[in-house]
Amino acid sequence: MTGGEYRESLRRRQPLKIYFQGEALEHPLDHPLVVASVNSAALTYELAGDARHRELATATSALTGRTISRFTHLHQSAEDLIRKVRLLRLLGQKCGTCFQRCVGLDGLNAVFAATFAIDRKQGTGYHRRFVEFLKQAEAADWMIAGCMTDVKGERRKRPHQQADPDLYLRVVARRADGLVIRGAKAHQTGAVNSHQLLVMPTVAMQAQDRDYAVCCAVPADAEGLVYIYGRQGSDLRKLDCSEAGCIDCGNWRYGGQECLVIFDDVFVPAERVFMDGEHEFTGALVESFAGYHRQSYGGCKVGMGDVIIGAAACIAEYNGAEGAAHIREKLVEMIQLNETLYGCGIACSALGQPTPAGNYLIDLLLANVTKQNVTRFPFEIARLLQDIAGGLIGTLPSAHDLASPQTGPYLQKYLRAAPGVSVESRVRMLRLIENFTLGRAAVSYLTESMHGAGSPQAQRIMLARLADLEDKKRLARELAGIKD
Ligand code: SF4
Ligand code: FE
Repeated sequence: MTGGEYRESLRRRQPLKIYFQGEALEHPLDHPLVVASVNSAALTYELAGDARHRELATATSALTGRTISRFTHLHQSAEDLIRKVRLLRLLGQKCGTCFQRCVGLDGLNAVFAATFAIDRKQGTGYHRRFVEFLKQAEAADWMIAGCMTDVKGERRKRPHQQADPDLYLRVVARRADGLVIRGAKAHQTGAVNSHQLLVMPTVAMQAQDRDYAVCCAVPADAEGLVYIYGRQGSDLRKLDCSEAGCIDCGNWRYGGQECLVIFDDVFVPAERVFMDGEHEFTGALVESFAGYHRQSYGGCKVGMGDVIIGAAACIAEYNGAEGAAHIREKLVEMIQLNETLYGCGIACSALGQPTPAGNYLIDLLLANVTKQNVTRFPFEIARLLQDIAGGLIGTLPSAHDLASPQTGPYLQKYLRAAPGVSVESRVRMLRLIENFTLGRAAVSYLTESMHGAGSPQAQRIMLARLADLEDKKRLARELAGIKD
């Protein structure tokens, strides 16, 4: 699809039940908050149609041989995994926020391998079903929301031990023609902008959690789905932004999106059920999905980092401080941190290996290192950006004051800094910086860096498990000449 066709396709869905600030949105696709997030997701379609980016944004389908979006592609090589990271960096550079389509891509690759493993061990027919779903996804160029994170209730308890059994999504009825599921998925990136929701379990399950071990797909407009739109810092600036280009938004064109998605007894036809009760396979599915998404952050956050470093360099110029040695030093530090994240994203891709199902999986240990670094470096990069920008990012008067005949002349006089730089340019750059570190994009650049694809501790558990400490001890003993 082109970007325009993608937007049109969203309008062809049945009306979605979307709530924001306690009210149902009657025309959600025209709501300024939603428009900005659709704009970001639409970029993934626009790039695929752009000859300069086709190599990154499209791929050759392993299922049909057709040219498809890379966002519906089963990775066929380590090179494919590297291209994905490069594509995500490019998209992050273009929109400066979350473009929302990678979760579905990561889910497709993880479920492809998981259904293959279940069928091989248990003789089920999930993989064939999933391949049919994937063929449709490729042909229709669907945007797929990957729905993993349950709300999880009391954290120390397993799904079946919770006081309310719906705190993890579960099967509440099995019918001859399919399943009925109930629960809620939190922080659902791009859910409102998607065509399909790919539901996956959120933790490794045990036998008593059988009803929670469910993986399936439902259309985003399925009966029983309720979307409660998440707030982001300064989100309402978008509402008093009367014309495109509103200065105070910082980044008026693009925004991210996360919702709490309620599955209020949603029917799933049998051909869209990819796991029902096979709890032994949930751990591997969660690990590979999380691994792919941890790799993703070595791309998207780096692209946003590129814009941030550019903003830091610009505002230093606009303030007339670009020649200072400490500014140059801080910019170099930001570059070093940002490229380290990229290096990790590329490394875990380059060491990717084929799964038994035939698609490629990243190196899990290095993908977890990537994301662990992402929980730290963007915060340091953002700190340096705020340092270079100066205190005005916290005290800047509004665009209305700039336009007002009473206050505008004062601001024109007293906010002037480097010669040849207009006050408006300086204000616009400061607003972009505010957007990244305190406003809407701070969710994408900071909160997601911390918690997206799993909170820091989730990676540390994986690092401890995957690092083979016994082998490292053996190496030390050998060199020290210890025989026993
Ligand atoms: Fe893609 Fe990054 Fe958004 Fe995840 S956080 S969906 S990887 S842009
Ligand atoms: Fe994310």
